[in-house]
Amino acid sequence: MSDLLMTLAKNPATAGIVKKLGLPNPVELARAEGGYQARPFAGKTVLLARSRNGYAADSLLASIEEAGAAPLEALQENSRERVDIVVMDATGCASPADCRALYDVFHPLMRRIARNGRVLIVAAPPDEAQDAVAAAAARGIEGFSRALGKELGKDGITVNLACVARDALDRLAGAVRFFCGVQATYVSGQVVRITAQVAAPAVLPFAAALKGKVALVTGSARGIGRATAYRLAQEGAQVVCLDVPGAADALHQACSEIGAIPLMMDISAPEAPHRLAEFFKEKFGGLDILVHNAGITRDRTLANMKEHYWDMVVNINFAAIAAIDEILLAEKVLREGARIVCLSSISGVAGNFGQTNYAFTKAALIGYVAAQAPKLASRGICINAIAPGFIETAMTDDMPFMMREAGRRMNSLKQGGKPRDAAELIAFLCTPGAYGISGATIRVCGQGLIGA
Ligand code: NAD
Repeated sequence: MSDLLMTLAKNPATAGIVKKLGLPNPVELARAEGGYQARPFAGKTVLLARSRNGYAADSLLASIEEAGAAPLEALQENSRERVDIVVMDATGCASPADCRALYDVFHPLMRRIARNGRVLIVAAPPDEAQDAVAAAAARGIEGFSRALGKELGKDGITVNLACVARDALDRLAGAVRFFCGVQATYVSGQVVRITAQVAAPAVLPFAAALKGKVALVTGSARGIGRATAYRLAQEGAQVVCLDVPGAADALHQACSEIGAIPLMMDISAPEAPHRLAEFFKEKFGGLDILVHNAGITRDRTLANMKEHYWDMVVNINFAAIAAIDEILLAEKVLREGARIVCLSSISGVAGNFGQTNYAFTKAALIGYVAAQAPKLASRGICINAIAPGFIETAMTDDMPFMMREAGRRMNSLKQGGKPRDAAELIAFLCTPGAYGISGATIRVCGQGLIGA
C-alpha cells in the first residue's frame, strides 16, 4: 500500500497543505539497488573522530580505508562542507569528563551531516569495564547515540552504536561497512555487540559476498522473504525459496526472477525438518544460510482468542523453527560457518495489543538466538534475529488504517520501511564479514518509538 502522506508531501500541488497542517514530511531515503561494492565509501566524505585513550581508532581507520575513503580527522571550521559518514572511536570514554568528547565531536557536526548520512559510534562494552563509573560511562553512550538518532532522523541520517572489546577489534570491518553504508537505510538507534566468540572465516569477501553459498529462505513468495531471496541471490548465493503450496504461483515467479529453486512446503508439518534435511543433503551436500522468515499473525485479544489461533501461530512462528534447526544442526546439514537468521518483531520486543500469541513467539526467538549462539560458536555458526518495525508488506496492509498510519510515523524517519530494508540487514548477517555478531537481535524499525 502506498504512503499517502509521502505522496502528498512530495507533490508540489499538495506539499503546502501538508506543511500548513504541521504533518510530518518524511525525507526520501537512499537505498541501494545492486549488491555490495568493494569500495563503497569511495567519493564519500568520512570523518573519523577519536576519544583520548581509545583503542579502536586504528582498526576503524583500516576498515574505512579498505572501504575506499581516506577519512578526515576534523572538518574545516568555516567551510560549509558536508560529511556523509561520521565514525567515532569512543572506547576511551571511561568517565564523565572523558564523555565530554561526545559533545565536542558532535555539537559542531549537527548541521553538517549530509542527508541520508551515517553515524557509527564505537564504544567499550559496559559489562567489561574496569569499574562502575567506566561501565556507567559506556552505558551512557547508548543513551547519547539513541538521542542523537532521534535528532538526526528527520534527515534520513541513521545513528548506531557498536560495542567492541579489544579482542574483537579485527571484527569491526563488516560492521563499519554495513552501519555506515547505504544498506543501513532503516536501521537506526541500535546497539550491537561485537565479540570474539566465533572464529574468523577463511575468506572474507565484501563484494559478491555470498558466492558459492547455498541459502534457504522460508516464506519467500512475497514480502520480506521475497526481498531477502532476491538480495541473497544478488550477492551470489544459490537460493532455495520455500513457501506453502497455496503460494505456488507467486513462489515460481519469485524464483524465475533470480534463478532460485522453489520448494513447496508447510514448515509446521511434522515431516518438514526431515524433508529439508534430505533435500539439502541430496541436492547440495549441505546448507550455508538459513533465513527463518515465514511467519503469520492471527490477532485477537486473549479473551477472544480461540485455541487454534494460539496453536497455529506458536507452531509456525516458533516450534517449526526450533524443530527444523534441531535436525539440520544434528545431522550437520548446516555447514561449518553457517548463518541462521530468525525474523522476530517489535511486537516481541514491546508486546502489542491483540497479539499475545504473536508477541510470545517473536520474543521467544530473541531468547532462542541468544541461547543458541554460544552453543554454535565452536562450529563457526552465527545465529541472530532481526526485529522489523513497520515494513510495508501484505502483512501490514491488513492492519486497520489508524494503526497502520501510527506504525508508519512513530519512528525517527517518519515512514515505514521497505522489504528491501529488512532484507539488507538479513543479508549482512548472512555474510562471512558479520562473524563478530551472534546471539543478537537487531531492529530494523527506523528507530521506532515502540519498545525503544
Ligand atoms: P507476509 O505475510 O507478507 O509473508 C509471509 C510469507 O510466509 C507468505 O508468503 C506465507 O505464505 C509464508 N508462510 C506462512 N506460513 C507458512 C508456513 N507454515 N510454511 C511456509 N511458508 C509460510 O509477511 P512479511 O510481512 O513479509 O513478514 C515476514 C516475516 O517478518 C514474518 O515472520 C513476520 O512475522 C516478520 N515481521 C514482519 C513485519 C512487517 O512489518 N511486515 C514486522 C515485524 C516482523
